[in-house]
Amino acid sequence: MTPRIVILGAGPAGLSAGLWLKNMGFDPMVLEKDDRPGGMLQFNFLENGWVLGHPGVTGQELGRRFHAHAASAGVAIRTGVELRALRSGVCGGLALVLRADEIVDAAALVVATGTRFRAAEILRGVPGADALASGQLVCGPYAFLDLAGQAGKHVLVIGGGDNAYENAGLLLDAGAAVTILMRTRARARRQMRDAVEGRPGLAVHAQGRVLALRREADDVVVTARAGDGEIRFPVNRIHILAGYEPNTAFLADVLPAAWESLLRRDPAGYLRVDAWGRTGIPGIYAAGDVCNPDFAGVASALAQGARAARAVARDIRGPDGMSMLV
Ligand SMILES: Cc1cc2nc3c(=O)[nH]c(=O)nc-3n(C[C@H](O)[C@H](O)[C@H](O)COP(=O)(O)OP(=O)(O)OC[C@H]3O[C@@H](n4cnc5c(N)ncnc54)[C@H](O)[C@@H]3O)c2cc1C
Repeated sequence: MTPRIVILGAGPAGLSAGLWLKNMGFDPMVLEKDDRPGGMLQFNFLENGWVLGHPGVTGQELGRRFHAHAASAGVAIRTGVELRALRSGVCGGLALVLRADEIVDAAALVVATGTRFRAAEILRGVPGADALASGQLVCGPYAFLDLAGQAGKHVLVIGGGDNAYENAGLLLDAGAAVTILMRTRARARRQMRDAVEGRPGLAVHAQGRVLALRREADDVVVTARAGDGEIRFPVNRIHILAGYEPNTAFLADVLPAAWESLLRRDPAGYLRVDAWGRTGIPGIYAAGDVCNPDFAGVASALAQGARAARAVARDIRGPDGMSMLV
């Protein structure tokens, strides 16, 4: 029987692992908890300048192409699926419990669950944060939607990385005024910063922290520490683009305690893997942003999906079993 390999997450890493496993003669099944495949790319309408061979294509379109390619190759892709438990299966494999009445047996599992943007937790404990209206606080990828609607408005962007600067630049293009507030100093690429800093309508504050928020009609009055001083200004909305968290917390709920202790994580919760993408639990591999805090991105996610697939093939069939059956 063709060994079934389950992949958690239908982003670039998971779809790439699925395609490679299919090409190597396995029976891959991708389980995605969201109701659509594509992972982070679903939220990226910017034109791709990073993945070789697809210039000018938006991230969203790239995600659709990845999905279409994997699906047309025969990779089974199920969306809206939640893993409830994971345990030993028959013949040394794994058993994934999806619902009380549904168990999927697998010879191996690839965790490709990516990351999520840090969100409202950034403002936890800040007076007034809980009183904001929906739409006044916009987190992560949603901050890239309806930018044209911000013309003539003032937006506070919290964060100092590439996403924060990219968002600020697009807001300025759309005719909004922007204040960037970051906890320490800018971590965005120099090229990104040069394209944004100094533009009319932009204020940038390092060593900053939101101290209080107050709703006033349609505005939010922000009180913040900035450097050694305190500043106060009204904004129409707040965008939080302050880094990522790996989607690994769910593993503590689904893994048996003895397995959990074999799992290696870094202090931020990213999975640590060996050079082949093995996690430390026999039969469980990882690929993509979930195990790649330093080089996160589409190209590395695709490559790591392929790496995990080859590791699965090697571990199940031996070194000679990695060749592709095309
Ligand atoms: C606006 C924006 C702009 C970007 N720009 C670029 C760029 O210019 N260049 C670049 O290289 N990258 C860019 N990225 C980042 C890029 O999209 C990610 O690095 C890439 O998608 C990571 O792929 P991944 O498969 O590892 O994870 P993801 O794409 O995050 O996919 C993980 C999938 O796993 C699912 N999942 C999570 N938990 C579970 C679970 N328990 N069970 C099942 N499924 C689960 C998630 O729903 C998701 O679909 C951008 C992202 C955004 C949002």
